[in-house]
Amino acid sequence: MVDNTQITKTISLENYGIKGAKVHYQLTSKELQEETLRLKQGVESSSGALAINTGEFTGRSPKDRFIVKDEVTKDKVWWGDINLPFDPEKFDKLYNKVVDYLGGKEIYARDAYACAEESYRLNIRVINEYPWSNMFAYNMFLRPDVSEIENFKEDWLVVNAPGFKADPETDGTRQENFAILNFSKKIALIGGTGYTGEIKKGIFSALNFILPVYKNTLPMHCSANVGESGDTAIFFGLSGTGKTTLSADPDRRLIGDDEHGWTAEDTIFNFEGGCYAKVINLTEENEPEIYHAIKPGAILENVIMDKKGVVDFEDVSITQNTRVSYPLEHIDNTQQPSIGENPKNIFFLTADAFGVLPPISKLTPGQAAYHFISGYTAKVAGTEAGVDEPVPSFSACFGAPFMPLHPTKYAEMLSRKMKASNVNVWLVNTGWTGGPYGTGSRMKLKYTRKMISDALEGKLEDVEFEKHEIFGLQMPKTCDGVPSEILNPKNTWKDKESYDLKAKQLSEFFRKNFRKFEEYANDEIMQGAPVE
Ligand code: ATP
Ligand code: MN
Repeated sequence: MVDNTQITKTISLENYGIKGAKVHYQLTSKELQEETLRLKQGVESSSGALAINTGEFTGRSPKDRFIVKDEVTKDKVWWGDINLPFDPEKFDKLYNKVVDYLGGKEIYARDAYACAEESYRLNIRVINEYPWSNMFAYNMFLRPDVSEIENFKEDWLVVNAPGFKADPETDGTRQENFAILNFSKKIALIGGTGYTGEIKKGIFSALNFILPVYKNTLPMHCSANVGESGDTAIFFGLSGTGKTTLSADPDRRLIGDDEHGWTAEDTIFNFEGGCYAKVINLTEENEPEIYHAIKPGAILENVIMDKKGVVDFEDVSITQNTRVSYPLEHIDNTQQPSIGENPKNIFFLTADAFGVLPPISKLTPGQAAYHFISGYTAKVAGTEAGVDEPVPSFSACFGAPFMPLHPTKYAEMLSRKMKASNVNVWLVNTGWTGGPYGTGSRMKLKYTRKMISDALEGKLEDVEFEKHEIFGLQMPKTCDGVPSEILNPKNTWKDKESYDLKAKQLSEFFRKNFRKFEEYANDEIMQGAPVE
């Protein structure tokens, strides 16, 4: 691991408008952990990880994510509910207020970069109010070595002030918190929220504009790993569908767990230098790689611990979205640098709480495009309130909140690349089997892993398939180590009629959601729609 203990360089933040700050520049992760403890903003867990609470916000706030609308962005960004416009002058005023607020404080600054592929590298300077946010940036971005620090020049600046609160009346925000991207000034301005994920997803959103517009590269919300023979696999999916969990595979080298680019030179590269895993119900037995990554250097977020610092991963009294961030080096089997060849297999992960979709099915190119644009998963509505009906959730490209361009821009690129590379595309339901949420149960992780590894090893090539009556998906009839009856979801439901009803209901949700994309879709893609 890169250790920056030899750094003697100091930087001033006066140029950014931050006056009279005491700047802690490029501290090591150990020093940042000590700072956090000194300021009583965190404690140490029994395994030596730092545990912090992110405050009022324990997740991203998509309604408070803005993009400055100006010459650079106005004709390119897909404006609407997802990409909310922000006035350039309002941005300047708010920026000035934030840097005024940071003036005179102890500030944590560091230089890092995104994109493991050298020619795509984006240098980032991160300025944080809190030491643990700065440690998060150390964990999640790539770490320059000492020589690279000497003449470091940033391409983008992240200013992160969780303690600053905006005044919506005068500042042009929706509420006190905000995350605003300014592509002309190359600044991500984040305030009023301590949720660390805003930092990484801010830069991700910036790259989701920069790479397709200027670099002919497809940015993807996916994880990636590579097998012994150099075969790359990527896993798309919305939050909670299994990108991080399933990419941590002891038999395959991890490239990254969340954000990658697919270049015109037929490579896949990680944007990040670390992982950000969910830890709800984490066990050593089910997810040993992640469990063992929780050691000194890792940051646990919003977990509950006993007096000895032992974490109770089942305790969700702060949030369901408990997390841990750690540098990639905390995983044993990684690909260094984080670059792979064109993928041989693509998995679309969905956590279907209706229990309708098959645990694994093979997609035609048309189905692949259709499901990518749809970006389906299902959420389980607040169980506390006694509501146990699943709610379908469609998010184009499996990551609409992070995509500044129209979804079809990314979909077209992906379709072209999938065809050119002759890749296998699989739809994997990591959600419910045996009935919907409430009646059925979550797919066993060990079965999902087995189906995926058989797909990767080509073992599903010679088996018989059957076609799903309603979705038209090709389902394998057998997979070693997995009970055959679960491969066709209808077999797992007691009441076959209610299965058909649910499946038709879900198919209707798909159609309704897709209407807004129909004008962009050709015949092949429309052939990928559910058949009934
Ligand atoms: P995010 O984009 O928010 O990082 P993610 O796609 O990386 O989300 P994971 O962190 O991998 O999602 O979360 C998947 C969760 O579901 C984990 O808590 C995992 O233990 C659980 N899980 C249960 N059953 C399965 C299964 N069959 N396959 C995958 N994950 C499962
Ligand atoms: Mn993840």
